[in-house]
Amino acid sequence: MAIETFRFDGQTVVVTGAGGGLGRAYALFFAARGANVVVNDMGGSVDGKGRAAKVASRVRDEIEAAGGKAVANYDSVEDGEKIIQTAIDTFGHIDILINNAGILRDKSFKNMTDRDFDFVYKVHLAGTFKCTKAAWPYFVRQGHGRIINTTSASGLFGNFGQVNYASAKLAIVGLTKALAVEGKGSNIFCNAICPVVASRMTETVMSPEELMNIRPELVAPFVAFLVHRSTTSETGSIFEIGGGHMGKLRWQRTQCLQVSNNTPISLDELLLRWNRFNCSDPSRPSSDAAYSVSPSVNPAGLRFDG
Ligand code: NAD
Repeated sequence: MAIETFRFDGQTVVVTGAGGGLGRAYALFFAARGANVVVNDMGGSVDGKGRAAKVASRVRDEIEAAGGKAVANYDSVEDGEKIIQTAIDTFGHIDILINNAGILRDKSFKNMTDRDFDFVYKVHLAGTFKCTKAAWPYFVRQGHGRIINTTSASGLFGNFGQVNYASAKLAIVGLTKALAVEGKGSNIFCNAICPVVASRMTETVMSPEELMNIRPELVAPFVAFLVHRSTTSETGSIFEIGGGHMGKLRWQRTQCLQVSNNTPISLDELLLRWNRFNCSDPSRPSSDAAYSVSPSVNPAGLRFDG
């Protein structure tokens, strides 16, 4: 199918944090391809202080000026049900949810306060949960839904000064994978993206030359492909996208050490066999492996009672 046929006419897309950066790029991309767009943004500074209705209004105006359909919403993602209600009240339905809103409260772990930690969690993890929770019953009822969550290299690999952000962003991966499992039977697909783009989040840590090559507009087509109705091959996946680079990430498991289920291994034996965990010839576990007690699927013989 040629890319030009990937349209979204009549579908409603909610984009959180769409007043700038990546969210704005998504909103403009979907609107240009026929979607009704809910442009959510609370405004405020990069560390989540203050509010400004004008950022969402401005993107709505841009879309309308280009002949597209959009409504602005100024609620925090912490009140996800209000954002989804705006979609229902204005367009009658919701088809696609892009959980994108985010803030930073970077501090070394030594200096990080409980509030720095909690606030980042509330916006990223609870915000993603609340918006998805509110959209979910509509997706289930109509037998169709697409969700994109936003993770980060910081969460996947770690980064100095971002214990709050990194842990919330990796929690979003867990949320994504569990939602993918729960949504499969209802034609609800949920994937996570790990972007690297020029925005106010990165403008203080990258040079102008670097920023020029990672415009947010470069990420939007990839996300649109993932959430298109005809894309049914991906759910629970994590994709890294930035500039001209696009890749898929997945877990791997080392070769497993098979020991008796009844006798604890001695520390001396562990020392002798530690090289089993050197990551050569790894396997690639999926959600089936997490809950399996079959040694062929889960050779570690781990038991989960979830
Ligand atoms: P950005 O600051 O331009 O965009 C984030 C938007 O979210 C802002 O417009 C902000 O007003 C809005 N927002 C913040 N708190 C909100 C709330 N409670 N409710 C509603 N809206 C709120 O930054 P961006 O780079 O476009 O970031 C978009 C997403 O991508 C974020 O989740 C971010 O963590 C993630 N991300 C970005 C990068 C990058 O390289 N820029 C890398 C990894 C992950």
